[in-house]
Amino acid sequence: MKRKDVVIERFAPSPTGYLHLGHAFSALTAYNKAKKSLGILKLRIEDIDNNRCKKKFERQIFKDLHWLGIKWSEPVLKQSNRRHIYNKTLYDLKNKGLIYKCNCSRKDIKNALSAPHRSDRRTTVYPGTCLNKHLNDDFVSLRLNMRKALQTISSRRLEFIETGYNNKKSVFQRRVDPEELLTNFGDIVIARKDIGTSYNLAVVVDDAMQGITHVTRGEDLFEITPIQILLQNLLDIQTPIYHHHKLILDSFGNRLAKRSYSESLLSLREKGMDQIQIFELISSDKFF
Ligand code: GLU
Repeated sequence: MKRKDVVIERFAPSPTGYLHLGHAFSALTAYNKAKKSLGILKLRIEDIDNNRCKKKFERQIFKDLHWLGIKWSEPVLKQSNRRHIYNKTLYDLKNKGLIYKCNCSRKDIKNALSAPHRSDRRTTVYPGTCLNKHLNDDFVSLRLNMRKALQTISSRRLEFIETGYNNKKSVFQRRVDPEELLTNFGDIVIARKDIGTSYNLAVVVDDAMQGITHVTRGEDLFEITPIQILLQNLLDIQTPIYHHHKLILDSFGNRLAKRSYSESLLSLREKGMDQIQIFELISSDKFF
């Protein structure tokens, strides 16, 4: 197999809480997919948000993955070490005139959206208040000028291959409609000033840096994937193949929460569960 044909999957948890069965399912799916195609799994700690990420959760991620028998190839990427890279990417986008500073608070945006002259009052798409302002240091975020971004790549087809969504086993090609990007997302926040990036920017840059060929993750991230496809095209980065799997739900049919310690892998282990029981749990119908 040529080097470039090697399947490279990844698991990219944020240390904002203890991992639960949903994470175990995601990590094991990615790991098993990689093994099946003689590929590798890479690990990335998505710890850009200083306020929410904690060292104790990060340490537990490594312990939980070891316990589950998951192996990954080194080095582990830590997003908190990569702010200079995100900064450089933002600089490139700024030089292309694709981003602008915004100092709107959530409340400002809410008020602007409920202004009486707007007919679409329920939409949460940013109304572009700061687009033509010339702010200095008094900004809170950088926004992508979506219309301009789409114009610069107008000759490209935006699309990605999906192999998991809706529990369909079939592979399908999903087209990203530029109109949808404008109406559903608009001028998204591409970096928060306090953390120096956004989830979407960091993920796209890091998936490329780690050479990820296959992204396996929960279907709750399917809806925002078009943003990542757009960014890959803007930054001239290859689009990986996506596999959005079903979410693991609790016995009431609700999403598992990182906030709930009782559902964590750590607590299940402390209650005496072993790996085999975890594997049985996540493959039992009750959770789907
Ligand atoms: N860090 C994200 C999470 O823990 C996952 C991001 C991704 O897989 O793209 O939910």
